[in-house]
Amino acid sequence: MQSELPGKDAELFVPLPNGRMKCTACARYCEIPEGKVGLCGIRGVFGNKLRLLSYGRVIAGHIDPIEKKPVTHYNPGSEIYSIATTGCNWLCKYCQNYDISQRRKIEGVEMTPAQVAEAATNYGAQGIAYTYNEPSIFIEFARDCGLEAHKRGIFNIFVSNGYDTPDSVNMMSQFLDCITVDFKGSGRQEFVRRYIGIPNSDPIFQTLLEIKSKTTIHIEVTDLVVPGADDDLQAAKNLCSFVYDKLGPDTPIHFLRFHPDYKMMDFEPTPVGLLEKHYELAKKQGLKYAYLGNVPGHPLEDTYCPECNAVVIGRYGFYIDEWNLDKQNCCKNCGARIPIVGKLYKKHSKLH
Ligand code: SF4
Ligand SMILES: [Zn+2]
Repeated sequence: MQSELPGKDAELFVPLPNGRMKCTACARYCEIPEGKVGLCGIRGVFGNKLRLLSYGRVIAGHIDPIEKKPVTHYNPGSEIYSIATTGCNWLCKYCQNYDISQRRKIEGVEMTPAQVAEAATNYGAQGIAYTYNEPSIFIEFARDCGLEAHKRGIFNIFVSNGYDTPDSVNMMSQFLDCITVDFKGSGRQEFVRRYIGIPNSDPIFQTLLEIKSKTTIHIEVTDLVVPGADDDLQAAKNLCSFVYDKLGPDTPIHFLRFHPDYKMMDFEPTPVGLLEKHYELAKKQGLKYAYLGNVPGHPLEDTYCPECNAVVIGRYGFYIDEWNLDKQNCCKNCGARIPIVGKLYKKHSKLH
């Protein structure tokens, strides 16, 4: 009987002639037989239906500044209520949230979508981020939370690995306002095979093309730079030229410092010089807004006006401590328009 089935009916799937269900929420496209779950551990076939087992089960809930996602060109300084479920479609050996993402038991506080949106309101957050694990795997729950959020004037952000599908992008278009797509090791094939357990990163590029061409979702791109993974920077060059050609020179790109975690404790943190090389590469490719992340106090956390090179937004870590834009988000020094969506929410006094 329907009421005894675990979770809630999923919507992104195709029934196959062999009786299995092909899940279309992520690019793994698991073909799942009755009584089994897909690789992520939270979508499974029960009673001949694909069910989202973690629907309404929230494992984490934190308030962070939007800059922590990282997102720097969308409602800067806003407070974000971040949630996750258990499970993930990737198997990253360096995952900082492995306790959540690699858990295959459905756990978490029971919350309805309305309760999630209400919690965000009560915390005084302006947005909800679906993060810590890959949100496309629980997209039906995220969509329902996101629609409740919109009713309350709250926006929605995905922090996604981008290993998504046309079906999941289509569902995103119903409720998502902003996405930051996290490449790892610049999407280099040897890296993603060895450390993530996916054959290649093609679906991530496809997802970005799909989002750009079919939705109005604000896009930022992140690349976790892992030392030794791409010494000739060829994959980074490919990534930057893709972003420039297909997403546009105004797209923010963040190069994040890697820290050893989980099964990659023998790696070194990314040398700052290597991050700076990635920044220079992005600028050389024509990208106007490149940033370094996880290096608090570095000058390349700031936003520079591409016309006059003045610091238009100064940051320290996840906090804004300088704001030199007028009400139309134009540079106060030269008047150039800086493509920031929304307005400044919170600025701190000078932090460095
Ligand atoms: S969301 Fe989960 S079940 Fe669906 S294809 Fe991806 S890993 Fe498989
Ligand atoms: Zn300027």
